[in-house]
Amino acid sequence: MGRRQPYHIETEAALLRKRLDAAIRAASDLEDARYVTTQNRMQTRRLLQEYTGTLDADLSEFFTGDPMASLTAQSLQTTYKDMREWPTLGKVAETQVSEERLLRAARREYGPLVRGIVDTIHTSQNRRLNSYFLQLDTMALPEQLYKKRFGQIPSWITTDAEGNQKHIAPKNANATFEAMSRTYGRNDVVVYRDGTNYPLRTYVDQKVISTSREVQDLATIVEGSGRGIMTARVTSHGSADSCIYHEGEMIFLTEGARSQFLADRSLVEKYPAAKTWRTYGELQRDKTHIFVFGCKHRIKVYPLHLLEPEDVDPERVEEPAKVPTSGNLEKQALEFRKEKFAL
Ligand SMILES: [Zn+2]
Repeated sequence: MGRRQPYHIETEAALLRKRLDAAIRAASDLEDARYVTTQNRMQTRRLLQEYTGTLDADLSEFFTGDPMASLTAQSLQTTYKDMREWPTLGKVAETQVSEERLLRAARREYGPLVRGIVDTIHTSQNRRLNSYFLQLDTMALPEQLYKKRFGQIPSWITTDAEGNQKHIAPKNANATFEAMSRTYGRNDVVVYRDGTNYPLRTYVDQKVISTSREVQDLATIVEGSGRGIMTARVTSHGSADSCIYHEGEMIFLTEGARSQFLADRSLVEKYPAAKTWRTYGELQRDKTHIFVFGCKHRIKVYPLHLLEPEDVDPERVEEPAKVPTSGNLEKQALEFRKEKFAL
């Protein structure tokens, strides 16, 4: 509490970007067809191992290390501030335990993310090397055969899986290497299972940006649940994107909170509208609506007992709005807004 550097997303993102650039530069031989063709294959594999090891260290440093500790501490402060908006919650004490619990929760969330990125790159690059070596073994020729076929054209010397030296024309080696890159991606690209590619830097940049929003919500969920608060409200700032449908929406912080609510008959009788509320997780998994990249919406604790009459009256319960999948989204959102808020 207060002993760490404040978290500045731009500074942290720039630092991480610099580290990733250095790691990619250090592994640039892996993008060099000549190196991969002529170098000792064990050495090449070691370079890939070193590269993904460095990526792992750099990404872990950000997503689970000190920057994450600063971010969780800062998000917790915002959550405390949110809670103090409700005097009925009493004195909101700040505890070391909360800070540690939140950091643990963040590490559980982002550790797998880092492993996912690193494993994806390692797997696709390993396949790329293996396939390339396999092609080399069949394409490269013993010296005599090579000379017979290609004459005096210069060759690159490669050592096949059996340890025999063979020759290959640089043009052929380059073309094959490029074909492998098209299939498996370069080493600075995250290749998804469906075949789509994402440049590592862009991917990580976007993750860094969305992390600050996600961790803020995580702070609300962890700290709110820890204090027995079940519900929260989506912030409102008159956005014109699809989030408009969710502004002011009441949600349960967790699945557990909703189960607890539904199991309590007196609570259900008092707040019947809440029966249809979604959980934060449900809202987040519905990626087309809210909390998409660049979304500025977040959740703020909103205990049940603060509910206003319109939230409690079952007559006012509405079906969740359908977001149009095509067409002029902004225009439709505005119309929806006019309808709903009589602007
Ligand atoms: Zn939004």
